[in-house]
Amino acid sequence: MTPDDICANLESVKADITKAALDAGRKGNDVSLIAVSKAFPAEHIRPALLAGHRCFGENRVQEAAAKWPALRKEFEDIELHLIGPLQTNKAEDAVVLFDVIHSVDRPKLAAKLANAMEKRDRRPDCLVQVNTGDEAQKAGVAPGEVMSFVGQCQEEFGLPVKGLMCIPPASDYPAPHFALLAKLADKLSLPMVSMGMSSDYEMACQLGATHVRVGSAIFGDRPSI
Ligand SMILES: *Cc1c(COP(=O)(O)O)cnc(C)c1O
Repeated sequence: MTPDDICANLESVKADITKAALDAGRKGNDVSLIAVSKAFPAEHIRPALLAGHRCFGENRVQEAAAKWPALRKEFEDIELHLIGPLQTNKAEDAVVLFDVIHSVDRPKLAAKLANAMEKRDRRPDCLVQVNTGDEAQKAGVAPGEVMSFVGQCQEEFGLPVKGLMCIPPASDYPAPHFALLAKLADKLSLPMVSMGMSSDYEMACQLGATHVRVGSAIFGDRPSI
Protein backbone atom coordinates (compact mmCIF):
# COMPACT_ATOMS: atom_id res chain seq x y z
CA MET A 1 0.00 0.00 0.00
CA THR A 2 1.29 3.44 -0.88
CA PRO A 3 0.34 6.45 1.26
CA ASP A 4 -2.07 7.45 -1.54
CA ASP A 5 -3.72 4.02 -1.46
CA ILE A 6 -4.22 4.28 2.28
CA CYS A 7 -5.82 7.72 1.97
CA ALA A 8 -8.04 6.59 -0.91
CA ASN A 9 -9.17 3.53 1.08
CA LEU A 10 -9.89 5.69 4.10
CA GLU A 11 -12.05 8.03 2.03
CA SER A 12 -13.95 5.20 0.41
CA VAL A 13 -14.63 3.43 3.73
CA LYS A 14 -15.87 6.72 5.18
CA ALA A 15 -18.16 7.25 2.18
CA ASP A 16 -19.53 3.70 2.56
CA ILE A 17 -20.22 4.33 6.25
CA THR A 18 -22.08 7.57 5.55
CA LYS A 19 -24.15 5.93 2.82
CA ALA A 20 -25.00 2.88 4.95
CA ALA A 21 -26.07 5.09 7.85
CA LEU A 22 -28.22 7.30 5.60
CA ASP A 23 -29.77 4.24 3.91
CA ALA A 24 -30.81 3.01 7.35
CA GLY A 25 -32.45 6.32 8.22
CA ARG A 26 -29.63 7.39 10.50
CA LYS A 27 -27.50 10.52 10.24
CA GLY A 28 -24.44 10.33 8.01
CA ASN A 29 -22.15 11.12 10.93
CA ASP A 30 -23.75 8.74 13.46
CA VAL A 31 -20.98 6.18 13.02
CA SER A 32 -17.32 6.76 13.90
CA LEU A 33 -14.59 4.96 11.99
CA ILE A 34 -11.87 3.37 14.12
CA ALA A 35 -8.98 2.75 11.73
CA VAL A 36 -7.38 -0.45 13.05
CA SER A 37 -3.63 -0.03 12.62
CA LYS A 38 -2.47 -3.14 14.48
CA ALA A 39 0.58 -4.82 12.94
CA PHE A 40 1.35 -1.75 10.82
CA PRO A 41 4.26 0.56 11.57
CA ALA A 42 3.99 4.33 11.98
CA GLU A 43 4.85 4.95 8.30
CA HIS A 44 1.53 3.37 7.33
CA ILE A 45 -0.41 5.27 9.99
CA ARG A 46 1.03 8.72 9.27
CA PRO A 47 -0.71 9.15 5.86
CA ALA A 48 -4.08 8.66 7.57
CA LEU A 49 -3.13 11.19 10.27
CA LEU A 50 -1.92 13.67 7.65
CA ALA A 51 -5.27 13.24 5.87
CA GLY A 52 -6.93 14.38 9.10
CA HIS A 53 -8.08 11.06 10.54
CA ARG A 54 -7.70 10.89 14.32
CA CYS A 55 -9.46 7.75 15.55
CA PHE A 56 -7.40 4.54 15.63
CA GLY A 57 -7.54 1.07 17.12
CA GLU A 58 -4.84 -1.29 18.36
CA ASN A 59 -5.25 -4.76 19.82
CA ARG A 60 -2.08 -5.04 21.90
CA VAL A 61 -0.94 -2.80 24.72
CA GLN A 62 2.77 -3.32 24.11
CA GLU A 63 2.56 -2.58 20.40
CA ALA A 64 0.53 0.56 21.07
CA ALA A 65 3.07 1.68 23.68
CA ALA A 66 5.83 1.37 21.08
CA LYS A 67 4.02 3.34 18.35
CA TRP A 68 1.59 5.88 19.73
CA PRO A 69 3.36 8.12 22.27
CA ALA A 70 5.55 9.48 19.44
CA LEU A 71 2.58 9.93 17.10
CA ARG A 72 0.65 11.73 19.86
CA LYS A 73 3.52 14.22 20.08
CA GLU A 74 3.34 14.80 16.33
CA PHE A 75 -0.47 15.04 16.01
CA GLU A 76 -3.06 16.53 18.34
CA ASP A 77 -6.44 15.11 19.34
CA ILE A 78 -5.71 11.46 18.64
CA GLU A 79 -8.36 9.10 20.00
CA LEU A 80 -6.88 5.66 20.60
CA HIS A 81 -9.03 2.57 21.16
CA LEU A 82 -7.91 -0.72 22.69
CA ILE A 83 -9.92 -3.36 20.81
CA GLY A 84 -8.05 -6.52 21.81
CA PRO A 85 -8.04 -8.66 24.96
CA LEU A 86 -6.51 -7.07 28.04
CA GLN A 87 -4.51 -8.91 30.70
CA THR A 88 -4.89 -7.61 34.24
CA ASN A 89 -1.16 -6.92 34.53
CA LYS A 90 -1.43 -4.49 31.58
CA ALA A 91 -4.47 -2.64 32.90
CA GLU A 92 -2.50 0.32 34.18
CA ASP A 93 -0.56 0.71 30.92
CA ALA A 94 -3.85 0.54 29.04
CA VAL A 95 -5.39 3.28 31.18
CA VAL A 96 -2.43 5.53 30.42
CA LEU A 97 -2.26 4.81 26.67
CA PHE A 98 -5.86 4.51 25.51
CA ASP A 99 -8.91 6.76 25.39
CA VAL A 100 -11.40 3.92 25.04
CA ILE A 101 -11.07 0.29 26.21
CA HIS A 102 -13.40 -2.10 24.35
CA SER A 103 -12.62 -5.39 26.06
CA VAL A 104 -13.82 -5.26 29.67
CA ASP A 105 -15.18 -8.74 30.28
CA ARG A 106 -14.50 -9.97 33.84
CA PRO A 107 -14.72 -8.64 37.38
CA LYS A 108 -10.99 -9.04 38.06
CA LEU A 109 -10.14 -6.86 35.07
CA ALA A 110 -12.83 -4.32 35.98
CA ALA A 111 -11.35 -4.04 39.49
CA LYS A 112 -7.81 -3.58 38.14
CA LEU A 113 -8.97 -0.92 35.69
CA ALA A 114 -10.80 0.93 38.45
CA ASN A 115 -7.64 0.90 40.62
CA ALA A 116 -5.47 2.02 37.73
CA MET A 117 -7.85 4.89 36.90
CA GLU A 118 -7.74 6.07 40.48
CA LYS A 119 -3.96 5.84 40.61
CA ARG A 120 -3.29 7.53 37.25
CA ASP A 121 -6.16 10.00 37.44
CA ARG A 122 -7.35 9.11 33.94
CA ARG A 123 -10.77 7.68 33.04
CA PRO A 124 -10.87 6.15 29.57
CA ASP A 125 -14.36 5.17 28.41
CA CYS A 126 -15.01 1.46 28.88
CA LEU A 127 -17.00 -0.94 26.73
CA VAL A 128 -18.08 -4.38 27.84
CA GLN A 129 -17.25 -7.10 25.34
CA VAL A 130 -20.19 -9.43 24.71
CA ASN A 131 -19.71 -13.00 23.49
CA THR A 132 -22.83 -12.83 21.33
CA GLY A 133 -22.22 -16.30 19.89
CA ASP A 134 -21.69 -17.86 23.33
CA GLU A 135 -18.48 -19.41 21.98
CA ALA A 136 -16.55 -21.40 24.58
CA GLN A 137 -13.12 -20.14 23.53
CA LYS A 138 -14.05 -16.51 22.94
CA ALA A 139 -13.59 -13.56 25.28
CA GLY A 140 -16.61 -11.61 26.39
CA VAL A 141 -19.56 -11.83 28.73
CA ALA A 142 -22.44 -14.14 27.80
CA PRO A 143 -25.50 -12.20 26.55
CA GLY A 144 -27.53 -13.34 29.56
CA GLU A 145 -24.97 -11.90 31.95
CA VAL A 146 -24.45 -8.51 30.36
CA MET A 147 -27.02 -6.66 32.48
CA SER A 148 -25.58 -7.85 35.78
CA PHE A 149 -21.95 -7.40 34.71
CA VAL A 150 -22.51 -3.84 33.46
CA GLY A 151 -24.29 -3.08 36.74
CA GLN A 152 -21.40 -4.51 38.72
CA CYS A 153 -18.83 -2.49 36.70
CA GLN A 154 -20.75 0.71 37.31
CA GLU A 155 -21.85 0.25 40.90
CA GLU A 156 -19.14 -1.88 42.51
CA PHE A 157 -16.15 -0.55 40.57
CA GLY A 158 -17.37 2.87 39.42
CA LEU A 159 -16.13 2.25 35.88
CA PRO A 160 -17.24 4.66 33.14
CA VAL A 161 -19.03 1.99 31.07
CA LYS A 162 -20.27 3.70 27.90
CA GLY A 163 -21.18 0.82 25.64
CA LEU A 164 -20.86 -2.70 24.33
CA MET A 165 -18.61 -4.41 21.80
CA CYS A 166 -18.79 -7.74 19.96
CA ILE A 167 -16.86 -9.91 17.52
CA PRO A 168 -19.38 -12.33 15.96
CA PRO A 169 -18.31 -15.93 15.32
CA ALA A 170 -16.37 -16.09 12.03
CA SER A 171 -18.65 -18.85 10.76
CA ASP A 172 -21.95 -17.02 11.36
CA TYR A 173 -23.86 -14.47 9.34
CA PRO A 174 -23.16 -11.40 11.50
CA ALA A 175 -26.50 -9.57 11.32
CA PRO A 176 -28.24 -11.33 14.25
CA HIS A 177 -25.18 -10.70 16.44
CA PHE A 178 -25.16 -7.01 15.53
CA ALA A 179 -28.90 -6.73 16.16
CA LEU A 180 -28.52 -8.41 19.56
CA LEU A 181 -25.66 -6.14 20.62
CA ALA A 182 -27.57 -3.00 19.61
CA LYS A 183 -30.64 -4.23 21.49
CA LEU A 184 -28.65 -4.93 24.66
CA ALA A 185 -27.00 -1.49 24.52
CA ASP A 186 -30.37 0.13 24.05
CA LYS A 187 -31.87 -1.77 26.99
CA LEU A 188 -29.00 -0.56 29.19
CA SER A 189 -29.17 3.01 27.79
CA LEU A 190 -25.51 2.78 26.78
CA PRO A 191 -24.59 5.17 23.95
CA MET A 192 -21.67 3.31 22.32
CA VAL A 193 -22.04 0.20 20.14
CA SER A 194 -18.76 -1.15 18.71
CA MET A 195 -19.28 -3.71 15.94
CA GLY A 196 -18.38 -4.35 12.31
CA MET A 197 -15.01 -4.97 10.66
CA SER A 198 -13.71 -4.81 7.07
CA SER A 199 -16.04 -7.51 5.78
CA ASP A 200 -19.26 -6.31 7.40
CA TYR A 201 -19.01 -2.69 8.57
CA GLU A 202 -21.80 -1.47 6.30
CA MET A 203 -24.21 -4.02 7.78
CA ALA A 204 -23.11 -2.96 11.27
CA CYS A 205 -23.85 0.69 10.38
CA GLN A 206 -27.34 -0.28 9.31
CA LEU A 207 -27.94 -2.24 12.50
CA GLY A 208 -26.96 0.47 14.96
CA ALA A 209 -23.15 0.58 15.32
CA THR A 210 -21.78 3.85 16.65
CA HIS A 211 -18.19 2.66 16.10
CA VAL A 212 -16.92 0.33 13.38
CA ARG A 213 -13.42 -1.17 13.60
CA VAL A 214 -11.88 -1.37 10.13
CA GLY A 215 -8.31 -2.50 9.45
CA SER A 216 -7.47 -4.35 6.25
CA ALA A 217 -9.95 -2.40 4.07
CA ILE A 218 -7.84 0.67 4.87
CA PHE A 219 -4.28 -0.52 5.43
CA GLY A 220 -4.28 -3.72 3.34
CA ASP A 221 -3.47 -7.26 4.41
CA ARG A 222 -1.64 -7.33 7.70
CA PRO A 223 1.93 -8.61 7.69
CA SER A 224 1.72 -12.01 9.41
CA ILE A 225 3.43 -12.18 12.78
C1 LIG B 1 -8.16 -6.75 13.79
C2 LIG B 1 -9.47 -6.39 14.38
C3 LIG B 1 -10.39 -5.65 13.63
C4 LIG B 1 -10.17 -5.20 12.19
O1 LIG B 1 -10.22 -6.31 11.34
P1 LIG B 1 -10.27 -6.12 9.74
O2 LIG B 1 -10.94 -7.35 9.27
O3 LIG B 1 -8.86 -6.01 9.30
O4 LIG B 1 -11.04 -4.91 9.46
C5 LIG B 1 -11.58 -5.30 14.25
N1 LIG B 1 -11.85 -5.67 15.52
C6 LIG B 1 -10.99 -6.38 16.27
C7 LIG B 1 -11.34 -6.75 17.66
C8 LIG B 1 -9.77 -6.77 15.71
O5 LIG B 1 -8.90 -7.48 16.46
